[in-house]
Amino acid sequence: MPRKSILDPETRRWHFRRNLLAWFRRHGRDLPWRRTRDPYQVLVSEVMLQQTQVARVTAYWPRFLERFPTVQHLAVATPRRVRDAWDGLGYYRRAENLRRAARHVVTHHQGEVPRDTAVLRSLPGIGAYTAGAVASFAYELAEPAIDTNVARVLRRVFHPRLRKGAAGDRQLWDTAKALVPRAGNTAWTTNQALMELGALICTARVMRCDICPVRKSCLTGRRGER
Ligand code: SF4
Repeated sequence: MPRKSILDPETRRWHFRRNLLAWFRRHGRDLPWRRTRDPYQVLVSEVMLQQTQVARVTAYWPRFLERFPTVQHLAVATPRRVRDAWDGLGYYRRAENLRRAARHVVTHHQGEVPRDTAVLRSLPGIGAYTAGAVASFAYELAEPAIDTNVARVLRRVFHPRLRKGAAGDRQLWDTAKALVPRAGNTAWTTNQALMELGALICTARVMRCDICPVRKSCLTGRRGER
């Protein structure tokens, strides 16, 4: 790695990722959906995790997969049965979108969840985040995935003055893209680690900068050192 100023964005990203990954390997939680690369199972977990706490999804995800073990099972299920399996998770539109997405996958993609993010986004209820998450977590592709946790971390670390809005969002996606390694198989780990940092250390309620593994490369965290 060439020696450059710590303020150089590329160098900061390099340090950030190295420290983030080292921390995640030691402290990342062993969540059930992190043990699979099955695209259908990953898709279900990601849709459940939208707007729902991890602890709740940990209970619902295996039960849902027991009831609908494959995308084919979900595709032929009645809306009522899917709704029943979702009962208690809230935001029931997600369940209906997931059922419709399964039908679409079976009808138009030979029962294989697509790997291309643009194709994934054509499925009902799948936005930019979920498309990136499925591509990265199931297929280990070098795709960014920005949910609210990741957006918060990227903003605090790299862009503390970024304005909200479309231009700001584009900047965050560019930064996330630059962080995900193009080669090798660390895209999965990088995206999971970013989410974990936002869930455990750099949360919406509190910034635990004193124990944060990326503080040295964080523009917000470094302010407290002065
Ligand atoms: S140093 Fe503080 S602000 Fe920066 S990522 Fe860590 S917890 Fe968040």
